[in-house]
Amino acid sequence: MINIYRNHSLKEYNTFGIDIKTSFFFEFTKENEILAFLNDSKYKKEKKFVLGGGSNILFVSDFEGVILYPQILGIETINENNKHVYLRVAAGEIWDNFVEYCINNNWAGVENLSGIPGKVGACPVQNIGAYGVEVKDVIESVEAINISTGKKEIFSNFRCKFGYRNSIFKNQFKNKYLITYIIFRLDKIHRYKVGYGQIENELKKYSEINLVNIQKTIINIRKNKLPNVETSPNAGSFFKNPIISDSKLKKLKLTFPDIVSYKVSNTKYKIAAAWLIEQCAWKGKKYKNASVHSSQPLVLINHYNATGSEIIALSEKIKKSVLEKFDIKIEIEVNVIGSSKL
Ligand SMILES: Cc1cc2nc3c(=O)[nH]c(=O)nc-3n(C[C@H](O)[C@H](O)[C@H](O)COP(=O)(O)OP(=O)(O)OC[C@H]3O[C@@H](n4cnc5c(N)ncnc54)[C@H](O)[C@@H]3O)c2cc1C
Repeated sequence: MINIYRNHSLKEYNTFGIDIKTSFFFEFTKENEILAFLNDSKYKKEKKFVLGGGSNILFVSDFEGVILYPQILGIETINENNKHVYLRVAAGEIWDNFVEYCINNNWAGVENLSGIPGKVGACPVQNIGAYGVEVKDVIESVEAINISTGKKEIFSNFRCKFGYRNSIFKNQFKNKYLITYIIFRLDKIHRYKVGYGQIENELKKYSEINLVNIQKTIINIRKNKLPNVETSPNAGSFFKNPIISDSKLKKLKLTFPDIVSYKVSNTKYKIAAAWLIEQCAWKGKKYKNASVHSSQPLVLINHYNATGSEIIALSEKIKKSVLEKFDIKIEIEVNVIGSSKL
């Protein structure tokens, strides 16, 4: 099934609730439909952008081009042995429904990623991660169509060049491929990762550690920590946690002994961006129609009919104060689409 709309509003398609329009909106449910569309001379020259659940996007201007909206569905077991099951999952599946499917089948690997909004097709783009797990750990390969040539390619896990909130689809091949299917490898023999953050403590409420109880625990923690996108439109963490050298951390600790850091290698440390922003007194602050969440300062909110540019302006102010106070550059995690007018 395909649908093509002209001058289509994207307000309902992004969790920031930014009210902008796209010249064309192409919705499709089959791989051959997108292949035919990409070869249609009428749309060949139009700029194209792939949209999933819109939960990691900030639109700052109308989109002059075609929004490609994959709604391909399906989860298929393609192989299994005593230890693993291999699933081919379509891009349009809701990520959290896929997590639920794995848990219901008693397959481990994605339970810590419970409750992350968005679609399956987007999960490799920023290598989604939470509570000590990244999706790269369970991805075997990614099937994607080159948007300019219309040719299908297979990306092995290695070829995806996964990193912290990063992959080849966010860098070298940014906006160049449309992911249609992903092959996941799930574990039949469970190895739980529960030593991260509050999980271990919260799990004590249950008599045993299993996939369902981990899922419940994580969803509970997330509900208490993150604002609801329905009432406080947002795109989750707006900034990445910066990574700095051990020597820089040592120096910073002389002035800021409470700085929150996590070791990532022998010489590198990840710094909690939320802590840096809070120290710059941004928690709960408002700028024009945008604001910083009152308990989770990593999250910026569309307070009331904010434009994307107002949210960018707020983020620039935050970046500037963190740089001035700590000499640390924080980077935006969210994908900014269009050109800001401020
Ligand atoms: C409340 C909240 C909590 C969140 N928590 C987390 C978290 O814990 N961990 C985490 O990592 N992220 C988190 N996020 C961010 C977000 O949920 C993830 O990045 C998610 O994977 C985005 O999926 P999406 O379908 O909404 O993608 P979109 O926002 O629509 O797109 C994101 C990027 O992926 C590209 N893309 C989307 N689909 C495809 C496709 N089929 N082919 C090629 N490119 C595609 C888009 O072009 C864009 O560049 C959170 C967001 C919110 C709002």
